[in-house]
Amino acid sequence: MKVMVAVKRVVDYAVKIRVKPDKSGVETSNVKMSMNPFCEIALEEALRIREAGAAAEVVAVSVGPAQCVDTLRTALAMGADRAVHVDAGAAPVLPLSVAKILKALVQVEKPGLLILGKQAIDDDCNQTGQMVAGLLRWPQGTFASKVVLDKEKQVATVEREVDGGIETLSLDLPAVITTDLRLNQPRYATLPNIMKAKSKVIKKVTPAELNVELKPDLEVVQVTEPPKRKAGVIVSSVDELIDKLKNEARIL
Ligand code: AMP
Repeated sequence: MKVMVAVKRVVDYAVKIRVKPDKSGVETSNVKMSMNPFCEIALEEALRIREAGAAAEVVAVSVGPAQCVDTLRTALAMGADRAVHVDAGAAPVLPLSVAKILKALVQVEKPGLLILGKQAIDDDCNQTGQMVAGLLRWPQGTFASKVVLDKEKQVATVEREVDGGIETLSLDLPAVITTDLRLNQPRYATLPNIMKAKSKVIKKVTPAELNVELKPDLEVVQVTEPPKRKAGVIVSSVDELIDKLKNEARIL
């Protein structure tokens, strides 16, 4: 069985986000970009599944501009066997278009499992996994905190943290899984593997070659920074605090 993993290139989680002066989006030029943390978890899970003998190959896929190749090299350095870059140019690709591209690639690659992050930390959409499962008509286990594969029965058991506790799902393969934070701790790529990944070939395709038209189905009207928080007040006693909570904040 093959596992396909979707990895997105996003602004690094440690970078302080700056909104563009024209409010059209977030500044990405001269900003450190990295693999989306939930995608690292997705890749780690795929690698563990392969290492446990339940899959033969892990293929990483990224959709976006030429620089996505860097993200795919990280995926190869972490242990992915192959990488596919869907060159979609510089404009942002929205979740429905990514889902259509992933569906088209699934039809070419025929994986038994497609793993995505539960959300990308740049757009926080949390849509792509659900959409691609719908388009493929595959069962989906979203927000997975534990995954167990039964190779013989071709079933994935997925645990998900829900409000009241842990929900356990049994999915017939092929299926889509999206990863939650607690699923695993992704490995670091070692220096020798980073060096080896530099010379690996990354397959490039375009959305047009996959017969996917990139139609924006929604428009970002504007992006603004959250309002600045007012400075706090240091109170001198518990009585003063209670007085303020009662008479100013009126929450007591
Ligand atoms: P989102 O629905 O945008 O929050 O993204 C959820 C997940 O979909 C991500 O963690 C990735 O696994 C996948 N994904 C979204 N956009 C892309 C992209 N451009 N390239 C590869 N994977 C993507």
